[in-house]
Amino acid sequence: MNKIPVGILGATGMVGQQYIALLEGHPWFEVRYLAASPRSAGKQYSDAVFGRWHATGNAAGFSGFSDAVGKLIVQDANDVAKAEAAHKKGDLAFVFSAVALSKDETAKLECDYAAAGIPVVSNNSAHRSDPDVPMLIPEINAAHTGIIPSQQKNHGWDKGFIVVKPNCSIQSYMIPVYALMKAGYAIDKMFITTMQAVSGAGYPGLSSLDLIDNIIPHLAGEEEKSEKEPLKIFGSIEGGEIVSAKKPVISAHCNRVPVVDGHSACVSLQFATGAGSVGTAKPSLEEIASIWRNFKSLPQELQLPMAPEHPIILRKEADRPQPRLDRNNDKAMAVTVGALRPCNLFDIRFTGLSHNTVRGAAGGGILNAELLKAQGFIN
Ligand code: NAP
Repeated sequence: MNKIPVGILGATGMVGQQYIALLEGHPWFEVRYLAASPRSAGKQYSDAVFGRWHATGNAAGFSGFSDAVGKLIVQDANDVAKAEAAHKKGDLAFVFSAVALSKDETAKLECDYAAAGIPVVSNNSAHRSDPDVPMLIPEINAAHTGIIPSQQKNHGWDKGFIVVKPNCSIQSYMIPVYALMKAGYAIDKMFITTMQAVSGAGYPGLSSLDLIDNIIPHLAGEEEKSEKEPLKIFGSIEGGEIVSAKKPVISAHCNRVPVVDGHSACVSLQFATGAGSVGTAKPSLEEIASIWRNFKSLPQELQLPMAPEHPIILRKEADRPQPRLDRNNDKAMAVTVGALRPCNLFDIRFTGLSHNTVRGAAGGGILNAELLKAQGFIN
């Protein structure tokens, strides 16, 4: 099979590098177009990332780039005409977007690519709240891609479109929470405290003097994203837009901690019972464990290469999950949960963990693109 030629905007950054490492040897996609800031444009990729390579690598333990990728000349991501020319020549089918620009600049740039006929699979937050842009965690809301034709119609785009993935930290608990909802247990309230890794802030990120021996209890915008984005993901397509769910009510505390990779979250849940709520009974801890162990949401016949075999891995030990021990579980695409126990304020509490630059960024983006290919949106 001829591989689909893909591009990466922001190819020199933390997330862009992870894309390159993860796509090495990918059965469907081949990296053929790289773009970053004007500072890197014109350089050979190997020179552009020299001294700042941080990707942890793919499931085969590969954490570099091939000679072919190293020799690609980095383009200016703002030069959409250049990408359009590559697209027309058949050298670029779609782009993964991981540029670090302002929200407005990113929003415009991604629209310009879509207007040029190039689908955009984005890691950025600029379009996450657009009601016609699907924000995907394929195990939960693969059907939200059904909004793409409305998005194209709204913008007058022919072949281009934008899909996004959510904030990296919510991926540490969204699938386990959804698994309980799917099993019939509606959730009323969610209280979350995140412990987010430094790689989540990009490179060079925080200075070591700010971070070592320290915890930063404020990450601009993260709490708002953590409280809003799950509701859109749990929402449904109605009248040509994605309408967010009303529940659960979420309160989030987000902290930066001195961990290199892997976002953790302590989560307390209150199930909905009684008048006005959907569910009628609360699951036992044994039932929750069984729901998580048996959760397999993606239709197996899709055979998406980046999909984890076990999207949720439950650890029984009281002191797991831990970032160093659990972030790479199942291609670093699984959410590892543990410390499941009763909660004195709500019903249950647990700790979730996922790899922020893989499941929470590049791996999640690749899984979204695989879903789009399987559904016929990109080819
Ligand atoms: P990063 O390490 O700072 O990399 C930023 C990338 O953007 C670099 O390739 C950089 O190119 C490029 N860039 C900077 N200014 C530019 C400009 N004016 N025009 C075009 N390109 C420009 O950031 P990151 O951590 O990879 O994050 C990238 C995006 O993904 C951000 O929106 C971030 O919020 C999102 N995200 C990150 C994570 C994570 O875990 N890190 C998770 C989810 C989502 P140069 O190297 O040439 O400067």
